[in-house]
Amino acid sequence: AQDQLVRSEKLSSLGKLSASIAHEINNPLAGILTFAKLIVRTLDQGVPDDATRKTLVKHLLLVQRETERCSAIVRNLLDFARERPLTLKDVDLDAVVEEGLQLLSNQINIQNVTLEKRLVPLPPVEGDFGQLRQACVNVIMNACEAMARGGKLTVESSASAGGGWVEIAFTDTGPGIPPDHLSKIFDPFFTTKERGTGLGLSVVYGIVERHHGKIEIQSEVGKGTRIAIRLPPRRAAE
Ligand code: ADP
Ligand code: MG
Repeated sequence: AQDQLVRSEKLSSLGKLSASIAHEINNPLAGILTFAKLIVRTLDQGVPDDATRKTLVKHLLLVQRETERCSAIVRNLLDFARERPLTLKDVDLDAVVEEGLQLLSNQINIQNVTLEKRLVPLPPVEGDFGQLRQACVNVIMNACEAMARGGKLTVESSASAGGGWVEIAFTDTGPGIPPDHLSKIFDPFFTTKERGTGLGLSVVYGIVERHHGKIEIQSEVGKGTRIAIRLPPRRAAE
C-alpha cells in the first residue's frame, strides 16, 4: 500500500508536470499556427506589394520568436529531465564562474550591470564542469534579468576554514523575491516573467543536488538577492 501511495503521488506530479508542459508549449504553438495561416493566405493572394511584404516579415518574425520559445522550453526540459550522468573531474569553481560570466558578458554589458568579482583560490571540487557552468549561467541570467534597469552583480567565492565546503555566491541589487515566492522558485514552470520558462532554477537545483551540494538564498524585497551554491570539496585521495 505504501508503495502504491508513492507511485500514485509520482503519477500525479507527473500529470501536473505534463499539464504544465503541454500548456507552456501550446501557447507559442497556437501563435505559430495563426501566423503561418495568415502568411499562407497573404501569399496566396498574389505577388505582395511593399506594405504587404513588411507585414509578412513581421509575421514571420513572430513565427521565429515563438519557435525559439518552444525550442528554449524543450532544451530546458531536456536539461531538467535528462539527469545526464556527471562527468566527474577536478573542477576549479572559480574557472567555472569565469566561463559563466564570459558566456553572459554581452547580456551583462547591455543591461548596464556593474560586475564585482571577489574570487579567492579554492580547493578543487569533484564535479561536472559543463553542468556546474550551466548552473552558474542560470543564476547569473536571473540576476541580470532582475536588474533590467541596471545594478550591481557581486560574485564571491569562499571556502570554509575547516575545509567542509566551497561556495560561490551571486548577489544582485534587483527587486528581491517576495517571501511567498521563495518556496516556489525551484518548482518547474514557476515564473514571474512574461517570457520566462520557469525552468532555470529547477535545472540548477538538479545539478547542485547531484553534486551533493546545497543552494542558499537570501533575499530582501527592494534590496536584492543573494544565491549561493555550496559544494563539498573533493575528498583527498587515499
Ligand atoms: P525564469 O527565469 O524563466 O522565470 P527561473 O527558474 O530561472 O525561471 O526563476 C524562477 C523565478 O524565480 C523567476 O521568475 C523570478 O520570479 C525568481 N527569481 C529567480 N532569481 C531571481 C533574482 N535574482 N531576483 C529576483 N527574482 C528571482
Ligand atoms: Mg531563469
